[in-house]
Amino acid sequence: MGLSLVQSRALLGLEAASVTVEVHLANGLPSFTLVGLVETEVKEARERVRSALQNAGLEFPNNKRITVNLAPADLPKDSGRFDLPIALGILAASGQIDNAKLAGHEFAGELSLSGELRPVRGALAMALALHTRGVATRLVLPLESAQEAALVPGGEVYGAKHLLDVVRQFVATDEEASQLPDTADDGWARIVAVPDTNPPRYADLAEVKGHTGVKRVLEIAAAGGHSLLMVGEPGSGKSMLAQRFAGLLPAMNIDEALESAAVASLGGRFATERWRVRPTCAPHHTASAVALVGGGSPPRPGEISRAHHGVLFLDEFPEFARSALESLREPLETGTITIARAARRAEFPARFQLVAAMNPCPCGYLGSSSRPCRCTPEQV
Ligand SMILES: [Zn+2]
Repeated sequence: MGLSLVQSRALLGLEAASVTVEVHLANGLPSFTLVGLVETEVKEARERVRSALQNAGLEFPNNKRITVNLAPADLPKDSGRFDLPIALGILAASGQIDNAKLAGHEFAGELSLSGELRPVRGALAMALALHTRGVATRLVLPLESAQEAALVPGGEVYGAKHLLDVVRQFVATDEEASQLPDTADDGWARIVAVPDTNPPRYADLAEVKGHTGVKRVLEIAAAGGHSLLMVGEPGSGKSMLAQRFAGLLPAMNIDEALESAAVASLGGRFATERWRVRPTCAPHHTASAVALVGGGSPPRPGEISRAHHGVLFLDEFPEFARSALESLREPLETGTITIARAARRAEFPARFQLVAAMNPCPCGYLGSSSRPCRCTPEQV
C-alpha cells in the first residue's frame, strides 16, 4: 500500500491541536516533499528521518516519490516533534509496519541521525490538553518526555529510547519483529508516574535573622495575595527575603501543579524534581517586554507565565524598561496574557504574586545611617 496516516499533535500556547501526518509513496521521479505550513525545523525532518531509518537498519524507499502532508494545513507547526510520526508513516506506507496497529496511538519525538529518540518540548502541556479535553489516546513519546507526560493523571503513556523500540511494537507479525536489527536494550515501556509524597522544599524564612517587621509584611502579603514592594539600601537582604517568599504560600494542589508544569514544559524547562514546587522567577532588569510577558512566533510563554502559581521577583524595579512594566498591568488584573502575532494567537496563564525590590535612590543610601547619599535631588 502507498498511503498511511499517523496521528500527532501540534502545540499552540497550551492548546494541543490534532495533526494527521499523511504519507504517500508513488512511482515517479524519486523525491521527498513535506507540505502543510511547516517551518524550517520541520523541513529538516526530511534529512533526519532519512538518516535515522537507514542507520537503524530499516529500509528507506529511495526509488519512490514521497509526499508527506501535515494536516490541517493552516495550523502552524514547529520543532522536530514530527520526525517520529513521519518515519512511522513512511514505514507504514512502504509496508514495513502494520498501518492498522497505529490506530489509537499518537506519536511525537525528534530523531537523531542514528535513530535515537530525543525529547520534545511541551510533552506535559500536550498530555494536559488531552486530559482536559477528555481525549483518550495512547501517547508514544521519547523516554524523558514520556516521564513528563505521565505526571498527568489518567493518561496512557509509552516511552521509547530508539526508533526500533517503537517499530518493534507495530510490525505485523512476531516473525518480522525477530528480523529487526537488535538494539542494546529494550527501551519500550509504559510509563507510570510515581507521585513524590515528600512536600517540596523551599528556602526557609526562619533562616533569616532579624527583619521581624519585613517578615510580618511578607506573611500578610502571602496570606492575602498582595503585591509587594521592598525599598531598602543595598545588602539589606531584600533578595534573600524575596527568594524565601514562595515557601510561605500553601502547597500546590494537583491542578495548579499541572498548569505550572505545563508552562515550564512549553519552555523546555520542566524537571521532575520541580514538580509541585512553586516557581520563583527573577528576570534581570534588562529583560525586554517580550521576555517578561511572552511573545515570538510561534508565541512562547514569558517570565510572568513561568511564575504562574508562584512568585515573580523584580529586583532593581525602577531599572526595568517602562514598556516592560506597563505590560504587566493586564496579567496582574486578569491572571492571563494573550499574545497576538500576525496570524497566531495564544493565551498563557499568568497568575503570579509580584514581589518587587528597589534602592531608595540611584546610589542606594538615601536615609541610610551607614553611608551618606551622593545623589543629586533630581536623581532621587
Ligand atoms: Zn543616593
